[in-house]
Amino acid sequence: MGKGIVIRSTGSWYSVEDENGQIFNCRIKGKLRLSGIKATNPVAIGDEVIFEVDEKLNQSVINTIVQRKNYIIRKASKLSKQYQIIASNLDLAVILITIKEPVTYTEFIDRFLVTAEAYNIPVLIVINKIDIYTGDDIKKMEAIRYLYNSVGYETLEISIKQSINIENFREIIQNKKVLLTGNSGSGKSSLINKIIPGKKLKTNQISAYHKKGQHTTTFPEMFKVGDNTYLIDTPGIKSFGIIDIGAEELFHYFPEIFKISHNCRYNNCIHVNEPDCAVRESVAQSIISAERYENYLKILYDNNEKYRTM
Ligand code: GDP
Ligand code: ZN
Repeated sequence: MGKGIVIRSTGSWYSVEDENGQIFNCRIKGKLRLSGIKATNPVAIGDEVIFEVDEKLNQSVINTIVQRKNYIIRKASKLSKQYQIIASNLDLAVILITIKEPVTYTEFIDRFLVTAEAYNIPVLIVINKIDIYTGDDIKKMEAIRYLYNSVGYETLEISIKQSINIENFREIIQNKKVLLTGNSGSGKSSLINKIIPGKKLKTNQISAYHKKGQHTTTFPEMFKVGDNTYLIDTPGIKSFGIIDIGAEELFHYFPEIFKISHNCRYNNCIHVNEPDCAVRESVAQSIISAERYENYLKILYDNNEKYRTM
Protein backbone atom coordinates (compact mmCIF):
# COMPACT_ATOMS: atom_id res chain seq x y z
CA MET A 1 0.00 0.00 0.00
CA GLY A 2 1.17 3.48 -0.78
CA LYS A 3 -0.15 7.00 -0.78
CA GLY A 4 0.77 9.66 -3.28
CA ILE A 5 -0.23 12.35 -5.74
CA VAL A 6 -1.17 11.76 -9.37
CA ILE A 7 1.31 13.82 -11.37
CA ARG A 8 0.65 12.46 -14.87
CA SER A 9 -2.26 10.88 -16.62
CA THR A 10 -2.57 9.54 -20.11
CA GLY A 11 -6.06 8.20 -19.77
CA SER A 12 -5.19 4.63 -18.92
CA TRP A 13 -1.92 4.99 -17.02
CA TYR A 14 -1.23 7.26 -14.11
CA SER A 15 2.08 8.28 -12.56
CA VAL A 16 1.83 8.59 -8.81
CA GLU A 17 4.52 10.20 -6.71
CA ASP A 18 4.72 9.06 -3.10
CA GLU A 19 5.97 11.02 -0.08
CA ASN A 20 9.56 10.00 -0.80
CA GLY A 21 9.46 11.22 -4.37
CA GLN A 22 9.31 7.71 -5.82
CA ILE A 23 7.16 7.37 -8.96
CA PHE A 24 4.74 4.46 -9.41
CA ASN A 25 3.04 3.48 -12.63
CA CYS A 26 -0.56 2.84 -11.80
CA ARG A 27 -3.74 1.65 -13.39
CA ILE A 28 -7.10 2.15 -11.79
CA LYS A 29 -9.24 -0.47 -10.22
CA GLY A 30 -12.09 -1.36 -12.56
CA LYS A 31 -14.84 -0.34 -10.22
CA LEU A 32 -13.34 2.91 -9.06
CA ARG A 33 -16.02 5.56 -9.29
CA LEU A 34 -16.57 8.81 -7.57
CA SER A 35 -20.09 9.65 -6.65
CA GLY A 36 -21.75 12.61 -8.25
CA ILE A 37 -19.22 13.47 -10.92
CA LYS A 38 -19.98 12.63 -14.54
CA ALA A 39 -16.41 12.85 -15.73
CA THR A 40 -14.66 11.06 -18.57
CA ASN A 41 -11.63 10.62 -16.35
CA PRO A 42 -12.20 9.23 -12.88
CA VAL A 43 -8.71 10.19 -11.71
CA ALA A 44 -7.10 13.56 -12.37
CA ILE A 45 -3.70 15.06 -11.79
CA GLY A 46 -3.47 16.52 -8.33
CA ASP A 47 -5.54 13.70 -6.88
CA GLU A 48 -4.30 12.18 -3.69
CA VAL A 49 -4.65 8.43 -4.05
CA ILE A 50 -4.02 5.18 -2.23
CA PHE A 51 -2.55 2.39 -4.32
CA GLU A 52 -1.46 -1.21 -4.02
CA VAL A 53 1.88 -2.24 -5.43
CA ASP A 54 2.28 -5.42 -7.46
CA GLU A 55 6.04 -5.86 -7.44
CA LYS A 56 6.06 -8.81 -9.82
CA LEU A 57 4.20 -6.94 -12.52
CA ASN A 58 5.99 -3.68 -11.80
CA GLN A 59 2.67 -1.92 -11.75
CA SER A 60 0.30 -0.61 -9.14
CA VAL A 61 -3.41 -0.21 -8.80
CA ILE A 62 -5.14 2.89 -7.50
CA ASN A 63 -8.00 1.85 -5.28
CA THR A 64 -9.00 4.99 -3.41
CA ILE A 65 -9.15 8.69 -4.22
CA VAL A 66 -8.96 10.89 -1.17
CA GLN A 67 -11.76 13.47 -1.05
CA ARG A 68 -10.83 16.39 -3.30
CA LYS A 69 -10.42 19.87 -1.85
CA ASN A 70 -11.44 21.33 -5.21
CA TYR A 71 -11.11 20.60 -8.91
CA ILE A 72 -11.39 22.34 -12.22
CA ILE A 73 -13.16 20.89 -15.23
CA ARG A 74 -13.88 21.41 -18.88
CA LYS A 75 -16.41 19.96 -21.24
CA ALA A 76 -15.19 16.80 -22.93
CA SER A 77 -16.36 18.29 -26.22
CA LYS A 78 -18.47 21.24 -27.26
CA LEU A 79 -21.81 19.47 -27.34
CA SER A 80 -21.03 16.86 -24.78
CA LYS A 81 -22.69 16.77 -21.40
CA GLN A 82 -19.69 14.97 -20.01
CA TYR A 83 -16.68 16.67 -18.69
CA GLN A 84 -13.05 16.13 -18.02
CA ILE A 85 -11.45 16.94 -14.71
CA ILE A 86 -8.36 18.94 -15.58
CA ALA A 87 -6.75 18.99 -12.15
CA SER A 88 -7.68 18.77 -8.51
CA ASN A 89 -6.53 19.95 -5.08
CA LEU A 90 -5.30 23.27 -6.39
CA ASP A 91 -3.92 25.84 -3.96
CA LEU A 92 -3.63 28.63 -6.48
CA ALA A 93 -4.51 29.43 -10.07
CA VAL A 94 -2.19 31.79 -11.89
CA ILE A 95 -3.52 33.57 -14.95
CA LEU A 96 -0.70 34.97 -17.02
CA ILE A 97 -1.74 38.00 -19.04
CA THR A 98 -0.10 40.54 -21.32
CA ILE A 99 -1.01 44.12 -22.21
CA LYS A 100 0.29 43.65 -25.76
CA GLU A 101 1.92 41.04 -27.99
CA PRO A 102 -0.66 39.60 -27.56
CA VAL A 103 -3.43 41.59 -25.90
CA THR A 104 -5.24 39.65 -23.19
CA TYR A 105 -8.89 40.65 -23.16
CA THR A 106 -10.63 41.23 -19.85
CA GLU A 107 -13.41 38.91 -21.00
CA PHE A 108 -10.87 36.08 -21.04
CA ILE A 109 -9.68 37.08 -17.57
CA ASP A 110 -13.19 37.38 -16.17
CA ARG A 111 -14.29 34.02 -17.56
CA PHE A 112 -11.38 32.44 -15.82
CA LEU A 113 -12.02 34.31 -12.58
CA VAL A 114 -15.62 33.12 -12.56
CA THR A 115 -14.47 29.55 -12.96
CA ALA A 116 -11.93 29.90 -10.17
CA GLU A 117 -14.52 31.52 -7.87
CA ALA A 118 -17.02 28.79 -8.63
CA TYR A 119 -14.51 26.10 -7.77
CA ASN A 120 -13.05 27.92 -4.78
CA ILE A 121 -9.55 28.37 -6.09
CA PRO A 122 -7.54 31.45 -5.09
CA VAL A 123 -6.21 33.41 -8.07
CA LEU A 124 -3.11 35.45 -8.78
CA ILE A 125 -3.09 37.61 -11.90
CA VAL A 126 0.43 37.82 -13.28
CA ILE A 127 1.13 40.53 -15.84
CA ASN A 128 4.05 39.45 -18.01
CA LYS A 129 6.33 41.22 -20.52
CA ILE A 130 6.65 44.45 -18.55
CA ASP A 131 9.97 44.94 -20.37
CA ILE A 132 8.15 45.95 -23.57
CA TYR A 133 5.54 48.35 -22.19
CA THR A 134 5.84 52.08 -22.74
CA GLY A 135 3.51 55.09 -22.53
CA ASP A 136 -0.06 53.95 -23.09
CA ASP A 137 0.79 50.33 -22.39
CA ILE A 138 1.86 51.29 -18.89
CA LYS A 139 -1.36 53.25 -18.40
CA LYS A 140 -3.35 50.22 -19.53
CA MET A 141 -1.39 47.99 -17.19
CA GLU A 142 -2.06 50.30 -14.28
CA ALA A 143 -5.76 50.36 -15.11
CA ILE A 144 -5.87 46.56 -15.18
CA ARG A 145 -3.98 46.34 -11.91
CA TYR A 146 -6.26 48.89 -10.27
CA LEU A 147 -9.42 47.21 -11.56
CA TYR A 148 -8.55 43.73 -10.34
CA ASN A 149 -7.02 44.83 -7.05
CA SER A 150 -10.14 46.83 -6.30
CA VAL A 151 -12.36 43.78 -6.71
CA GLY A 152 -10.10 41.67 -4.54
CA TYR A 153 -7.51 39.95 -6.71
CA GLU A 154 -3.77 40.07 -6.21
CA THR A 155 -1.58 41.01 -9.14
CA LEU A 156 2.13 40.65 -9.83
CA GLU A 157 4.06 42.28 -12.66
CA ILE A 158 6.91 40.33 -14.15
CA SER A 159 9.26 40.07 -17.06
CA ILE A 160 10.43 36.57 -17.78
CA LYS A 161 12.85 37.91 -20.33
CA GLN A 162 14.52 40.33 -17.94
CA SER A 163 14.01 38.22 -14.81
CA ILE A 164 11.96 40.85 -13.02
CA ASN A 165 9.98 39.60 -10.00
CA ILE A 166 10.63 35.97 -10.84
CA GLU A 167 12.00 35.24 -7.36
CA ASN A 168 8.90 36.87 -5.94
CA PHE A 169 6.77 34.54 -8.01
CA ARG A 170 8.82 31.57 -6.88
CA GLU A 171 8.17 32.48 -3.26
CA ILE A 172 4.44 32.92 -3.81
CA ILE A 173 4.04 29.44 -5.29
CA GLN A 174 6.11 27.64 -2.70
CA ASN A 175 4.37 24.64 -1.14
CA LYS A 176 1.45 24.96 -3.52
CA LYS A 177 -0.12 23.08 -6.39
CA VAL A 178 -0.49 25.85 -8.93
CA LEU A 179 -2.54 25.82 -12.09
CA LEU A 180 -0.99 27.95 -14.80
CA THR A 181 -3.23 29.39 -17.45
CA GLY A 182 -3.21 32.25 -19.91
CA ASN A 183 -3.83 32.93 -23.55
CA SER A 184 -1.46 31.57 -26.14
CA GLY A 185 1.66 33.71 -26.34
CA SER A 186 1.40 35.09 -22.81
CA GLY A 187 4.54 33.22 -21.77
CA LYS A 188 3.41 30.06 -19.95
CA SER A 189 6.08 27.80 -21.43
CA SER A 190 8.73 30.45 -20.89
CA LEU A 191 7.70 30.75 -17.25
CA ILE A 192 7.91 27.02 -16.63
CA ASN A 193 11.33 26.94 -18.29
CA LYS A 194 12.44 29.84 -16.14
CA ILE A 195 11.19 28.40 -12.86
CA ILE A 196 12.34 24.82 -13.38
CA PRO A 197 16.04 24.42 -14.04
CA GLY A 198 16.73 22.23 -17.03
CA LYS A 199 13.19 22.38 -18.44
CA LYS A 200 13.02 23.09 -22.14
CA LEU A 201 9.41 23.33 -23.21
CA LYS A 202 9.02 24.66 -26.71
CA THR A 203 8.00 28.29 -26.75
CA ASN A 204 6.24 30.37 -29.33
CA GLN A 205 4.19 27.48 -30.67
CA ILE A 206 1.48 29.65 -32.14
CA SER A 207 2.02 28.67 -35.76
CA ALA A 208 2.30 24.95 -35.04
CA TYR A 209 -0.89 25.15 -33.05
CA HIS A 210 -2.89 26.23 -36.07
CA LYS A 211 -1.74 23.47 -38.38
CA LYS A 212 -4.72 21.91 -40.06
CA GLY A 213 -5.87 18.36 -39.72
CA GLN A 214 -3.67 17.66 -36.79
CA HIS A 215 -5.44 15.95 -33.99
CA THR A 216 -3.48 16.50 -30.86
CA THR A 217 -4.75 15.20 -27.61
CA THR A 218 -3.16 17.22 -24.91
CA PHE A 219 -3.08 16.16 -21.33
CA PRO A 220 -2.40 18.66 -18.63
CA GLU A 221 1.01 18.19 -17.10
CA MET A 222 2.21 18.69 -13.59
CA PHE A 223 5.80 19.85 -13.21
CA LYS A 224 7.65 19.55 -9.96
CA VAL A 225 9.22 22.84 -8.96
CA GLY A 226 10.45 21.72 -5.55
CA ASP A 227 9.28 19.94 -2.43
CA ASN A 228 5.51 20.12 -2.31
CA THR A 229 5.48 22.64 -5.15
CA TYR A 230 4.01 21.93 -8.58
CA LEU A 231 3.11 23.94 -11.65
CA ILE A 232 0.29 22.53 -13.76
CA ASP A 233 0.43 23.45 -17.42
CA THR A 234 -2.70 23.29 -19.51
CA PRO A 235 -1.51 23.24 -23.12
CA GLY A 236 -4.20 23.68 -25.70
CA ILE A 237 -6.93 24.29 -23.17
CA LYS A 238 -8.37 27.56 -24.32
CA SER A 239 -11.29 27.86 -22.01
CA PHE A 240 -12.36 26.30 -18.83
CA GLY A 241 -15.91 25.17 -18.56
CA ILE A 242 -18.25 27.37 -16.69
CA ILE A 243 -20.59 24.50 -16.39
CA ASP A 244 -23.95 24.46 -14.73
CA ILE A 245 -23.74 28.03 -13.53
CA GLY A 246 -27.26 29.35 -13.86
CA ALA A 247 -28.31 32.95 -14.30
CA GLU A 248 -29.34 33.22 -10.67
CA GLU A 249 -25.87 32.10 -9.62
CA LEU A 250 -23.40 33.71 -12.02
CA PHE A 251 -23.22 37.09 -10.27
CA HIS A 252 -22.11 35.36 -7.08
CA TYR A 253 -18.75 34.89 -8.81
CA PHE A 254 -18.21 38.59 -9.50
CA PRO A 255 -17.35 39.63 -5.92
CA GLU A 256 -18.14 43.33 -6.36
CA ILE A 257 -21.45 42.61 -8.12
CA PHE A 258 -22.42 40.08 -5.50
CA LYS A 259 -21.72 42.53 -2.70
CA ILE A 260 -23.92 45.25 -4.16
CA SER A 261 -26.67 42.85 -5.26
CA HIS A 262 -27.95 42.78 -1.67
CA ASN A 263 -29.32 46.26 -2.33
CA CYS A 264 -31.34 45.32 -5.40
CA ARG A 265 -35.09 45.60 -4.98
CA TYR A 266 -35.77 42.00 -5.97
CA ASN A 267 -33.86 39.23 -4.32
CA ASN A 268 -33.98 37.22 -7.54
CA CYS A 269 -32.56 40.12 -9.54
CA ILE A 270 -30.01 39.04 -12.15
CA HIS A 271 -29.12 42.65 -12.95
CA VAL A 272 -30.22 42.77 -16.57
CA ASN A 273 -33.31 44.96 -16.73
CA GLU A 274 -35.05 44.72 -13.39
CA PRO A 275 -36.30 47.93 -11.77
CA ASP A 276 -34.27 49.36 -8.88
CA CYS A 277 -31.25 47.21 -9.62
CA ALA A 278 -28.42 48.41 -7.39
CA VAL A 279 -25.87 46.75 -9.67
CA ARG A 280 -26.90 48.71 -12.75
CA GLU A 281 -27.05 51.89 -10.68
CA SER A 282 -23.50 51.24 -9.50
CA VAL A 283 -22.35 50.70 -13.06
CA ALA A 284 -23.96 54.00 -14.08
CA GLN A 285 -22.09 55.72 -11.24
CA SER A 286 -18.82 53.97 -12.16
CA ILE A 287 -18.70 52.28 -8.77
CA ILE A 288 -18.71 48.97 -10.62
CA SER A 289 -16.54 48.78 -13.72
CA ALA A 290 -18.61 48.89 -16.91
CA GLU A 291 -16.16 46.48 -18.50
CA ARG A 292 -16.63 43.87 -15.80
CA TYR A 293 -20.40 44.33 -16.00
CA GLU A 294 -20.34 43.88 -19.79
CA ASN A 295 -18.31 40.73 -19.37
CA TYR A 296 -20.83 39.56 -16.82
CA LEU A 297 -23.61 40.04 -19.38
CA LYS A 298 -21.65 38.26 -22.12
CA ILE A 299 -21.09 35.22 -19.94
CA LEU A 300 -24.70 35.32 -18.79
CA TYR A 301 -26.00 35.35 -22.38
CA ASP A 302 -23.58 32.68 -23.50
CA ASN A 303 -24.62 30.34 -20.74
CA ASN A 304 -28.31 31.07 -20.88
CA GLU A 305 -29.72 31.43 -24.39
CA LYS A 306 -33.10 32.58 -23.12
CA TYR A 307 -31.76 35.90 -21.82
CA ARG A 308 -30.47 36.90 -25.22
CA THR A 309 -33.73 38.54 -26.16
CA MET A 310 -34.04 40.57 -22.98
P1 GDP B 1 2.79 30.39 -24.23
O1 GDP B 1 2.09 30.26 -25.55
O2 GDP B 1 1.91 31.00 -23.19
O3 GDP B 1 3.46 29.14 -23.75
O4 GDP B 1 3.95 31.49 -24.47
P2 GDP B 1 5.51 31.27 -24.76
O5 GDP B 1 6.23 30.92 -23.51
O6 GDP B 1 5.65 30.37 -25.94
O7 GDP B 1 5.93 32.76 -25.13
C1 GDP B 1 5.47 33.42 -26.29
C2 GDP B 1 6.50 34.43 -26.75
O8 GDP B 1 6.66 35.48 -25.80
C3 GDP B 1 7.89 33.82 -26.92
O9 GDP B 1 8.46 34.33 -28.09
C4 GDP B 1 8.65 34.30 -25.69
O10 GDP B 1 10.04 34.41 -25.92
C5 GDP B 1 8.01 35.65 -25.46
N1 GDP B 1 8.13 36.10 -24.05
C6 GDP B 1 7.85 35.38 -22.94
N2 GDP B 1 8.06 36.11 -21.84
C7 GDP B 1 8.49 37.34 -22.25
C8 GDP B 1 8.87 38.55 -21.55
O11 GDP B 1 8.89 38.66 -20.33
N3 GDP B 1 9.20 39.61 -22.35
C9 GDP B 1 9.22 39.54 -23.72
N4 GDP B 1 9.57 40.64 -24.39
N5 GDP B 1 8.88 38.42 -24.39
C10 GDP B 1 8.52 37.33 -23.66
ZN1 ZN C 1 -29.82 43.81 -9.58
